[in-house]
Amino acid sequence: MSASSLSDTRSSELYRRALHVLPGGVNSPVRAMRAIGRDPIFIERASGAELTDVDGNVYVDYVCSWGPLIHGHAHPEILEAITAAAANGTSFGAPTAGEVELAEAVSARMPAVDMLRMTSSGTEASMSAIRLARAATGREKLLKFAGAYHGHVDGLLAAAGSGLATQGIPSSPGVPEGAAAATVVVPWNDEEAVKAAFAEHELAAVLVEPYPANMGLIPPAPGFLELLRDLCTGYETLLVFDEVITGFRVAPGGAQELTGVLPDLTVMGKIIGGGLPAAAFGGPIALMEQIAPAGEVYQAGTLSGNPLAVAAGRATLALLDEQAYMSLSDTTRALADGLREAAGDHPISVTSTTGLVTVFFAAEPPTDYASAAACDLDTYGAWCRALLARGVYPPASQFEAWFPSTAHTADHIARTVEAAAAAFAEVL
Ligand code: PMP
Repeated sequence: MSASSLSDTRSSELYRRALHVLPGGVNSPVRAMRAIGRDPIFIERASGAELTDVDGNVYVDYVCSWGPLIHGHAHPEILEAITAAAANGTSFGAPTAGEVELAEAVSARMPAVDMLRMTSSGTEASMSAIRLARAATGREKLLKFAGAYHGHVDGLLAAAGSGLATQGIPSSPGVPEGAAAATVVVPWNDEEAVKAAFAEHELAAVLVEPYPANMGLIPPAPGFLELLRDLCTGYETLLVFDEVITGFRVAPGGAQELTGVLPDLTVMGKIIGGGLPAAAFGGPIALMEQIAPAGEVYQAGTLSGNPLAVAAGRATLALLDEQAYMSLSDTTRALADGLREAAGDHPISVTSTTGLVTVFFAAEPPTDYASAAACDLDTYGAWCRALLARGVYPPASQFEAWFPSTAHTADHIARTVEAAAAAFAEVL
């Protein structure tokens, strides 16, 4: 048992109670902070870029709910939109004007999205996109990249075995072998492995986080996304970009705008719901009209397009103007540069793109999941614990990105860099 679980804080008291009624004390695994060797911190409230825990400790927050809160916590205009929507009723099970307006706003931003269907989580959106891809191609197999996360869909909880192109093996008990076996897993950025997989398997879809952030941020090698596009076009396989993290973050139109590589289908989440449960998948009309009731591919949801989530999403997108991206880009650069400087001569590498940063405990930036997994994970954990002790709340895993927001100020960054330098000195 860690020292903090024995201590007499309100967080540890809540955690002890939680362990009796919630598996592992949490409702989603990474919140438990096991990867950094400590107990979870229970949050009481948050505002802008700052979190306050139930013991009154204040932290500069770089998790921001794992991505949805691109404007930080409790943004007044977003709260106002949610409150106004709630006053009119929380859910109707019937269409609303807000859904049409959100869909129009999304398709205006995302180059490859003309029509979309909303869901309540990213998991559901990727599950539904896969169903559509399989229906549209009449094929079953999927290709994904080792270390990429597309939600806890059975067939996508497949990890790489050995070899270049390998049949997926389930990475969780309870995932049927058949579901994982329909997924081919290859290393990220490995051109030869991808070509071999296409040659060997009839693929319905390639699922890709275009700027993967679930193995830490590991940008695509030059030409890699273009290769995926060319192979998909050549083999009549659908290219599916999972932009749950990158959408509306790395650029107004996500990674598809940033890179100019257009997918056939796009999965979106997080920012699209502005901190309330909403996600979506979308693409060209001819594909999307295969979804029921326009077409025969069944997909549904009691709370899909929920009025509160739609209001939060619309308000969040409305605040994402040119100025917001300039400020997010400056903040991200200042954070990444500051962390690099704080690390000094230590064997640390920092990757970043607008709105995303990862500090890898390795001298060279990883290029795939295997090299990310070879980082010094124990020291990353110790560094995170040292940051928390200094009022900075980092993602509690080497395999996640930091999420700076438009609410992070120069002062937040300066405090973070100072804490990071002290934490590096403590653990390295
Ligand atoms: N895709 C990506 C790229 C994600 O990062 C996540 C969640 N972190 C998901 C899908 C799943 O989204 P959700 O947790 O809303 O189901």
